[in-house]
Amino acid sequence: MNNQQVDCGCDTIPQPLLSIDEALKILIDSAKVTNSTQLIELDGTLNRMLAIDIHADISVPSFDNSAMDGYAINLKENQINKAGGFAFEITDRIPAGSTGEALAPGCAARIFTGAPIPKNANTVLMQEECWLIENKSKIEVYKPISLGENIRPMGNDIQSGGVILPKGKRLQPQDIALAASVGIDKLSVFHKIKVGVFFTGDELVNPGNTLQQGQIFNSNRYSLVALLNNLGCEIINLGNIKDTFNATCDALKALKSACDLIITTGGVSVGEEDYIKPAIEQLGQLNLWRIKIKPGKPLAFGNLGRCAFIGLPGNPVSAMVTFLLFARPFIKKMQGAGHYLNTAFKAQTNFDWNKPKSRREFVCVRLDHTTFPTKANLYPKQCSDVLSSMVWADGLIEIPEKTTFKLGEILNFYPLNELLS
Ligand code: AMP
Ligand code: MG
Repeated sequence: MNNQQVDCGCDTIPQPLLSIDEALKILIDSAKVTNSTQLIELDGTLNRMLAIDIHADISVPSFDNSAMDGYAINLKENQINKAGGFAFEITDRIPAGSTGEALAPGCAARIFTGAPIPKNANTVLMQEECWLIENKSKIEVYKPISLGENIRPMGNDIQSGGVILPKGKRLQPQDIALAASVGIDKLSVFHKIKVGVFFTGDELVNPGNTLQQGQIFNSNRYSLVALLNNLGCEIINLGNIKDTFNATCDALKALKSACDLIITTGGVSVGEEDYIKPAIEQLGQLNLWRIKIKPGKPLAFGNLGRCAFIGLPGNPVSAMVTFLLFARPFIKKMQGAGHYLNTAFKAQTNFDWNKPKSRREFVCVRLDHTTFPTKANLYPKQCSDVLSSMVWADGLIEIPEKTTFKLGEILNFYPLNELLS
């Protein structure tokens, strides 16, 4: 301990504890959707947020076509659904990419998957159901044949004029392929948002260096940058910032005009080594929240002019969990996502909860898929500094405040692979 007088932070009036839902609502309501868009080639659109509804100008397929390699035939009225030895003369051959002639009654065209159905053909036989006879000039069929077999009608996938991709969709491989299937080569997406980050704490040292007494490696720098990369943000990283008022102000000033959002970790408590609060208050507005959540009670939210600010707690698990629960939906809304709130799944606990807690808890669990229903096992050490718990876990279970339960309780479950996508 240094020789400064210990300050208990009593000059600051503690704010009442906010519920998670209240805090999230305030955050989400104040998230401003970016309004700048860009038109980019399909290959560059993966994971980007679509800025407009996409309509189809054509139907897909744009012509009736064969679903099989086989024979397109002109089935006569008296042959429909009848069994027994009908023969059709092969008069045409239609590979995919070409068009055939109109079929005469009683005739067949050799046809391949994706080739257009010729005029007058009313059904397609799979080649496996046909016997080639008379020196392969005819086919004979024994099974009953119905009309329209193995024909993929025009518009089977997409009807011309309809919306195929909604604004705000985060583009996935299948979305990009769907746009390509209607002939679109570029898509309008929202610009990436710019997020400035820095890390407070005089104890922080970057990996690759040797630790001196009392120092720790900065792990939040890596989780935060990776989390932001996952979300497709542009990042300006100022690295470790000294625990002084001036250094904190300088970092904020350096980022505020270049960024849509600044995120920091650490320094959001109200001890005299925590400079986020006074620095933001000097340069903008700040709410220092105490949220009824574990891990991660303190969270700072504010703005420096048009640049939003989120201050995450310093403990590594708290920083990650509060990022996932609060910053992630906030960022997704800023990015223009139509769906930005986290999705809760359900899971059954394989543990009891004997002591009611005043804060809602998000605990690290791993699902056991060898039983039905799947059961969630609890990591034995749930501490805000135990990063191994996040590495072990495949999700977070939400335990409501003031509750107890016995093994088998069904609760909200947030899979990490969903939260980290
Ligand atoms: P603070 O919120 O600044 O009071 O920090 C709370 C705890 O988190 C302290 O034990 C810090 O050493 C630790 N901590 C703060 N920042 C980081 C970081 N970037 N990486 C790892 N641990 C951190
Ligand atoms: Mg600190």
